[in-house]
Formats: sequence, C-alpha cells, structure tokens
Amino acid sequence: MIRKITIPKDLFERMVNHSKEEEPIEACGFLIGDKVDDEAVASHILPADNILSSPVLFEISPEEIYKAWITAEKMGKDVVGVYHSHPHGGLTPSPRDVQFMRHSDFVWLILKGKRIRGFIWDNGVTEILVEILEWS
Ligand SMILES: [Zn+2]
Repeated sequence: MIRKITIPKDLFERMVNHSKEEEPIEACGFLIGDKVDDEAVASHILPADNILSSPVLFEISPEEIYKAWITAEKMGKDVVGVYHSHPHGGLTPSPRDVQFMRHSDFVWLILKGKRIRGFIWDNGVTEILVEILEWS
C-alpha cells in the first residue's frame, strides 16, 4: 500500500496553476509515474477536463480515464495519482470523493491554493505523505 508520493516541484506548480486557471470550478487530472514498494514517484502530469464544470464536484470522462491508462502503459509507467482542487472546500475528501476512492488503488491528491494533501483507501481514508521535490 502506498504511504508516500513524491512530486517534482515543476509538476506541483503545474497542478497549482491548473487549479488557479479553472477557478471557480474544480480542476482535475492524473499523475503518471512509478510505484516502488510503498512509494509512488510522479514523473508526468496529464490535466483532464472536469465534465461537470462544477465548483464542488468533478468527474473525468471514461475516454480521458482510458487515455491516461494507455498513456502510462505506453511509457512503461503507472497512473499513480488523481488530483483535483477544492476551490471552495477544505483539503479533506468529500463524501463523493470517498465513494470513488473506495474503488481505486492510486493516490488521491487534493489541492487548494498552494496546499496539497494526499490520501489512499486502506480500509478507510488514509492520509499519506506528499513530498514536493526541489531540483537543485
Ligand atoms: Zn473533492
């Protein structure tokens, strides 16, 4: 079970900017990368459309979900996370988020401004460590 996700700073900034651009609706997308033991390491970002265009809900079309998995597979990688923003809420999964989390084995990242939290489903909503990797 994933306990930590590492995100390079440039990908983190793209998620933050994507969230800002989509305001007041929720922004969403995928992180592609590698899973090593109990760690996920993101290497690519794939922004997606929120087909609900909602400030409090998001949904990604089946076509875009399929495309994300195919893209990852072609790279020899995994979809390690799904991110979305909560422009109007806290950094906690909504009841609807939790319903979807129950059926997923990737990290759920929630953003608000420049804050981010990561969760997985492990017999319940479990917070994991999110590390933003600075390049130097
Ligand atoms: Zn949410």
